[in-house]
Amino acid sequence: MRHFAIVGSGPAGFYTAEALDKAYGGEARIDILDRYPVPYGLIRFGVAPDHQSLKAVSKRYDKVAESAGVDFIGNVTVGRDISVAELLELYDAVILAVGAPHDRKLGIPGEDLPGVVGSAEFVGWYNGHPDFADLDPPLGGSHAAVIGNGNVALDCARILSKTRHEFEGSDIVGHALDALDGSAIRTVTILGRRGPHQIAMTPKELGELGHLEAASPVVEGADFPPLEADDALEPGHRKSITILRGFADTPPDDAKPKRMVFDFFAKPLRIEGDGKAEKIVVERTELDDKGAARGTGETYEVTASLIITAIGYSSSPIADVPFDGGKFVNEGGRIAERLYAVGWARRGPTGTIGTNRPDGYEVADLVAAAMPAGSSDGRAGAEGLKRLLESRGVMATDYDDWRKIEETEVANARAGSPREKFVRHEEWLRTLGR
Ligand code: NAP
Repeated sequence: MRHFAIVGSGPAGFYTAEALDKAYGGEARIDILDRYPVPYGLIRFGVAPDHQSLKAVSKRYDKVAESAGVDFIGNVTVGRDISVAELLELYDAVILAVGAPHDRKLGIPGEDLPGVVGSAEFVGWYNGHPDFADLDPPLGGSHAAVIGNGNVALDCARILSKTRHEFEGSDIVGHALDALDGSAIRTVTILGRRGPHQIAMTPKELGELGHLEAASPVVEGADFPPLEADDALEPGHRKSITILRGFADTPPDDAKPKRMVFDFFAKPLRIEGDGKAEKIVVERTELDDKGAARGTGETYEVTASLIITAIGYSSSPIADVPFDGGKFVNEGGRIAERLYAVGWARRGPTGTIGTNRPDGYEVADLVAAAMPAGSSDGRAGAEGLKRLLESRGVMATDYDDWRKIEETEVANARAGSPREKFVRHEEWLRTLGR
């Protein structure tokens, strides 16, 4: 019997567990560890609450968690409660699936002013992440800005622009729903340092902006290259650009009070304000011959009392594991003997949820090649882990505990919401009587 520990219960962790379970056909015990008593990582805390069809992938992960060879062990922080070296003593292989939970910094003056928040913080706030329950983003001004031209920037801008009614059926947390309902924001400027052809937004997500109840997208036709230039684009990307061109061709709907303004070729230089963010000073850019943004020297100001940076994420370093500043140093998923990384901890923060499936299967193949099914080194696995955690006073939780939390969240749901998520660690533990 082989014993594997997967650290992190998001998509990458669950696909890897599924792959290992299949590869070993019942001849392996797979423990998925998480620092929280609730699993699914990015699905619970990252995917937008109004994208329930994406969140439904957790049903597949439920099946994995329920399979005989797989266990969920929650409320355990690797690097604090137990080290990676200790896990490697207990398990045949350790796979880091810890994602990339930290916001990359812009590195410009004024970035630390109140009113400037990272997308991980803002997304965590509306998705019930306990670290950001107290974020209280300033929604009292009429102008907000989102920096970045990826899908996360779109998520943040859309959430700021939706009406209460449009959150029906979502699992947005109550505190965010109420705060957004009282928001005075009427204009959200989405700043891209390059042009429309360089966006990292996908068609479905962009298309949604054309159907919002109270907001219209505003796009400047002059920002586009000639139409023929679209022919060279990959079909999915071309579709996104066609949608953007459609926005540029459609005047904003006067019956809708809110605007989502795409400001391309706009590179933030600094954020200014009297004790809090009030505006971004931006430099107009053009593309150089390598397609990078080059400043033109022309500057202007964008008013915003809430500024969300959505420019990518980095992983958390873990003691004694080589780290390159954004992810763990690895070759094809292998960090060192018996130590692997998957998902964003391996590749950096790119790709969709589905990208993590082949990623997890590839690393499971590496593990299985190094330790063929049927072999054993007699390691202690979960039993040894639980003994060690108990001796340290760490109250690990299991999958049944999660189901109790989930049942309570579903029972607490507001009308029109699938659940009312707990937003504090203590609430999870209290629900379990601990
Ligand atoms: P992303 O797709 O990598 O986009 C990051 C954006 O930030 C890019 O537009 C980038 O511009 C810009 N940026 C980076 N550094 C900047 C700087 N210093 N100043 C100004 N702009 C800067 O990252 P993401 O939006 O965080 O998304 C992460 C991954 O999750 C992506 O693969 C995304 O598709 C996926 N995701 C998917 C969904 C969905 O399917 N519904 C939802 C959310 C996220 P440059 O191109 O110029 O570098």
